[in-house]
Amino acid sequence: MQIYPWQTDTAQRLLALRAQLPHAVLLHGRAGLGKYGLAQAFAKLLLCEQRDANADVACGQCPSCHWFEQGSHPDVHILQPNALDEVDDSAPERKKSEWISVEQVRQAIAFLQLSSHRNGLRVVLLNPAEAMNAAAANALLKTLEEPPENSLLILVSHQPSRLLPTILSRCHQLRANLPDSSQALMWLEEQGVADAQLCLSLAAGSPLLATAFADDDYHARRRALLADLQVAAQTPALAMAERYAKLAVADYSQLLQWLQQWVHDLQSMKLAGRVYYHQDFSEQLRNLSMHVKLTPLLKLQQRLQRARAVVAHPLNIQMVMEDILLEYASVF
Ligand SMILES: [Zn+2]
Repeated sequence: MQIYPWQTDTAQRLLALRAQLPHAVLLHGRAGLGKYGLAQAFAKLLLCEQRDANADVACGQCPSCHWFEQGSHPDVHILQPNALDEVDDSAPERKKSEWISVEQVRQAIAFLQLSSHRNGLRVVLLNPAEAMNAAAANALLKTLEEPPENSLLILVSHQPSRLLPTILSRCHQLRANLPDSSQALMWLEEQGVADAQLCLSLAAGSPLLATAFADDDYHARRRALLADLQVAAQTPALAMAERYAKLAVADYSQLLQWLQQWVHDLQSMKLAGRVYYHQDFSEQLRNLSMHVKLTPLLKLQQRLQRARAVVAHPLNIQMVMEDILLEYASVF
């Protein structure tokens, strides 16, 4: 299978399932590890029509492999939020949903109940499984209880704790491993990512997520905020908040995430003398942490969590930011 270097062990455990293929496999683990790509590679291999049943890689030549690569395999169904669908500019504007609806699940179930076009197996790739709403999950559960012959459902999940226990118990569960950092760093450097160490720590160790941080504009905006935070105790919050007044919701959400990471590292430095996210600011954090009071810091963390929870509906970003910055200044 075409896989990332840190997936070798996970791939072997997937391949071992071929001896007695379950009806449902749950591949779970941190986001940014390439689980969905691995699930696709496994499905492609299972459907490959080459002769050698023990091969670990799909042949890439047969009709089945060609269809798979073109996304038109008649025995494969992708079940995902339509926000993840590739955008077709010619198609009429459609409301993008982050959720998988019960209607989408019913279509997938109907697909599994048809007989196969080719070698006998039909596969549904469900990504991510936690995107199913309650009705969708219940509809799927019935199929997991009585799976059709020759069907395989591969569920990918970044947050399996959000799945129904009854769904979990009916899947063969396989955990995708997090790479050790030297392996991840080597891979990131091969991809030409500058500051691989910093990007990896921002991504909490997930290499594919780390590549998303290899972006000059991202780092410039992040550094601007962090520079503000270092002088926030001496700067009027109102003046500082004005800089954030015109933020788009996505940028505001990013800003809150950076703030949470910063506050997390302030606490971590204070209590344990180390940082998780800010390898590039550890000296500054060490200096600031000497003046930090823990009780207001905990209150600030809760304040940030509340702001994150309603991030899609901010009342007034400038006012919320002023409030947060005032609270931040009171931590010292
Ligand atoms: Zn093939």
